[in-house]
Amino acid sequence: MGVAQHQQNKIIYDKMNFTTLSSWSLSPNSSLIPPLALFYLVPPHVSSFQTLDKAPDYVTDVTPYFFILILLEMITRWVQGLPRLHLNDSIGSLSAGMFMLMLNLVLFQSIELVGYVWVYNNYRLFSLPWDSPLTWWIALLGVDLAYYWFHRMAHEVNLFWSAHQAHHSSEEYNLTTALRQSSFQRFGSAWFYLPLALFMPPTHYLVHKEFNLLYQFWIHTECIGTLGPLEYVLNTPSHHRVHHGRNRYCIDKNYAGVLIIWDRMFGTFEKERDTKIHYGLVHNLKSFNPVWVQVHHYVYLVKKLFSAKSFSECVHILFKGPGWSPGKPRLGEPHEIPEIPHDTTKYNPPVPLWVTVYHFYNFAVLLVASYLLGLIKSELPYVVALCAVLYFLYSLTCIGLIHDHHPLGPFCEIMKLLILISCDAYFGFYLSESLLIQGMRVFAMFSLIVWLRVLFKQVKGKRD
Ligand SMILES: [Zn+2]
Ligand SMILES: [Zn+2]
Repeated sequence: MGVAQHQQNKIIYDKMNFTTLSSWSLSPNSSLIPPLALFYLVPPHVSSFQTLDKAPDYVTDVTPYFFILILLEMITRWVQGLPRLHLNDSIGSLSAGMFMLMLNLVLFQSIELVGYVWVYNNYRLFSLPWDSPLTWWIALLGVDLAYYWFHRMAHEVNLFWSAHQAHHSSEEYNLTTALRQSSFQRFGSAWFYLPLALFMPPTHYLVHKEFNLLYQFWIHTECIGTLGPLEYVLNTPSHHRVHHGRNRYCIDKNYAGVLIIWDRMFGTFEKERDTKIHYGLVHNLKSFNPVWVQVHHYVYLVKKLFSAKSFSECVHILFKGPGWSPGKPRLGEPHEIPEIPHDTTKYNPPVPLWVTVYHFYNFAVLLVASYLLGLIKSELPYVVALCAVLYFLYSLTCIGLIHDHHPLGPFCEIMKLLILISCDAYFGFYLSESLLIQGMRVFAMFSLIVWLRVLFKQVKGKRD
C-alpha cells in the first residue's frame, strides 16, 4: 500500500493493457472521503472507477486518521477508566503493520491484483458495468463474502493459520491491534477473491478490498459497547472482541469482515457474553519480536511435519485445524482448549522509563523514514531501497528484542547504531545539514555510548 502501490497499480494497468474508455466524472479527492472510507461510507458515485489508475489509494489517504483515532481512543480509555495501552504491545502491533508495508515495498506488492487482472482479462465470463451502482453493491457483498470464507479458512486450516495468527498474537485489544497485520496472508487470501474476477471489474475489487480492510480498523476497540439494531447486520466492536478472545466460547467464531450476516448464515456467530474476554492466542506467544510474531507458527508447523508418521498425516497437519492431531475431529476437541485461570497475567516485561522514551523516539523516526521511503522508492536503485527496508526491519526487531529482555538485545542495538553511524559517515553528504539531522547524529552517538555501557554491565554481570 502507499503511494508506491498506487504507482505500481499504474504499472500493472499499463502492462495488462487494461480497457480504456472515457472517464466517469467523479470528485474522488474530496477531503471528506478518507475519514468516511474508514466506515465504508463512500457512496458508489464517488468510488466507482473505470480504470485502475483512476482509483485512489484509500489506505494511504486514511493513514493519518489511524493515528488520530488511536490518540482519541487512548483519551477515551482514560476517561472510561480502562487500562492504559502498553507501549511494548502497541509498538509490536504497529511493527507488524510496518513489516507488511515494507515487504510490500520491495517484494510482493500487488501480487493479488496482478492475478485478479490476469484472470479477468483471460477468463471472465461477462463483465458487470463499472459505472452501475448495482455493480458497486454486488462488489461490496462479493468481496465481503470472499473475505468471510478466506478468514474462516485462515482459522480452520493450519497452513493459512500460520500466517493469520500474527493478527491474533496480541493480548491487548485496541486500535493498534487492528494494524497488527500478517506479512504472508495475501498468498492464501488471493485465491478466495478470484471467482469475482469472472465478472467483476478489477477497479471494484481493488476499491472494495480496501474499504473492507479499512472498515475493520475501528471495530478493534473496547471503548464501544453494543450498537443496537446494527449488531444484527454489521460486524461491530462487540462481535470482533469475541473473534479475538481466547476464552473457550470465542474460539472459531465471528469471521465477518463488514457484515455479520455471513456468520449468522453459516453457523459461526457467537454473541459477546458478560464474562471478561481474554485476548490473544490459545497458547500465547510471549514475545514482542516482530519477526518471531510472523514466523513462529511456520517453525512449529515444520517441526510437526517432521514428527509425522506418514505422508497422509502431513497432509492432515497442513490442511486441518491448528488443534487437530491423529484421532481427533478436523478442528480438534473443543474441550481441550484450556480454561483461563482467574489470576492470569499479560506478558509485559518491565523496562526502564528511558528505554520506553528511547523506543518511542526510534519508532517515530522509523515511521516517518518508512513513509518517506515509500514516497521516493521509485527514484532509488532497487538494491538501495531493499537495504533501507532490511535496515528498518532489523531496527524494529531490535526494539522487540529489548522489550523481550532478550540477551542479544543490547548487542543488536549497538550493531544497528554502528550501521547507522557508518552509513551516515559514508553517504551523509546526501543528507541536509539541518539542525534536526545534526541533533539526530549527536543522539545516535550518545545512544551508542549508553548501549555499550548496558552491554558492558550485562557481560560483567554474567562473569560475576
Ligand atoms: Zn481472525
Ligand atoms: Zn481483528
